[in-house]
Amino acid sequence: MTLKVMLAPGRYVQGPGALDHMGEQLEILGLRNPLILVSPSAKKAVGAAITRSLEARGLAHAFVDFGGECTRVEIERIKNVCIQGGHDAIINCGGGKVLDAGRAAATRSALNVEMVPPEHIPDLGAGVACINVPTVAASDASTSSVSLVYTDDHVVEATMLFPSSPAMVFVDTTVIAASPVRLLVAGMGDALATYFEADMCLRTGSPAVVTRSHSTRAAQALARLCFDLLMTYGVQAKREADAGVAGPGLEAVVEANILLSGLGFESGGISGSHAVGHGFYHVAEFFASPRYHGEVVAYGTLTQLMLEGRPPEFLKTVFDFCRAVGLPTTLEELTLTDTSDEVIERVALAAARDVVLISSMAGASSQPDELGRYYDHRVIFNAIKAVDVFGREYGA
Ligand SMILES: [Zn+2]
Repeated sequence: MTLKVMLAPGRYVQGPGALDHMGEQLEILGLRNPLILVSPSAKKAVGAAITRSLEARGLAHAFVDFGGECTRVEIERIKNVCIQGGHDAIINCGGGKVLDAGRAAATRSALNVEMVPPEHIPDLGAGVACINVPTVAASDASTSSVSLVYTDDHVVEATMLFPSSPAMVFVDTTVIAASPVRLLVAGMGDALATYFEADMCLRTGSPAVVTRSHSTRAAQALARLCFDLLMTYGVQAKREADAGVAGPGLEAVVEANILLSGLGFESGGISGSHAVGHGFYHVAEFFASPRYHGEVVAYGTLTQLMLEGRPPEFLKTVFDFCRAVGLPTTLEELTLTDTSDEVIERVALAAARDVVLISSMAGASSQPDELGRYYDHRVIFNAIKAVDVFGREYGA
């Protein structure tokens, strides 16, 4: 396949107090009656500001509370509320699952790539504009055209790809500055992977998972900018967030965490960092407390850099960054209570078997071996431990 494909939201809006401009931005898109999907915490954080802005423009709207899990039943319920109210958009406010559910309820059709061959879902959502208002900057999911759908028991049952990206992504940095700092830092961990994974896909000629195509130079450049912004502004952003200030450092890092990381992963591809990061969820029972996506992905990124054989000077730059903002550089900092070889081997084996993510790595095979591996898991095992050694050395 030689096609290059790039996806992006139709409009990206960011700034302190941005929600005061929601009404005018909706009017620019020709939208006059949105349904607003909110989690309880998001309703507190953004509900009043959105209502004020829409009322100032005389725009009709209604709120609907999120049920707590992104299931097919919940998607259907939100879709029906949207259709019955004659709404022309769904504004999704909150974190990952709210955005996933609202995005699916807004979009007409989807492809579930969890099935082989992929399952086509023709009448999924209401077919209206999807607008995402992330109230935390913990990941890059809000700019993407992908949703994870769960069973009632919270197990992923579908990875839905949508034919269109969100019509608008709307980030009020005052809201982000007031959100828990650990979430912003986790978002930096997710964003840290973007450049190295896109670069790996480029070097190995692997298509991006979402576009199932190769990356444009634009996507590669945006992934690189994502990394550069973290290195330049990451520590400053953390300090501003600690003080609850939406300053220039936070502005730069929010753009890296949400916009650039989203564009970079979706159109550039993902790889070993996420494979190893997800591998840690296979030993979740050994964490002293639950870890965020970006926190395990940060450790996965350091592992990918070890697998690439990056020189110590470069490793030190990235380790120093992680340490300065509070991302884990040792297994202890990941709060892993059992760091025996057996546990680490389980992580490595899960990563080596993750065909979707690991097969873009240099040295991966396209066919599984007798253990179901696409990569030698002993090499991953050693890299995970090498990160720990390096991290402890620099922590001392
Ligand atoms: Zn991620």
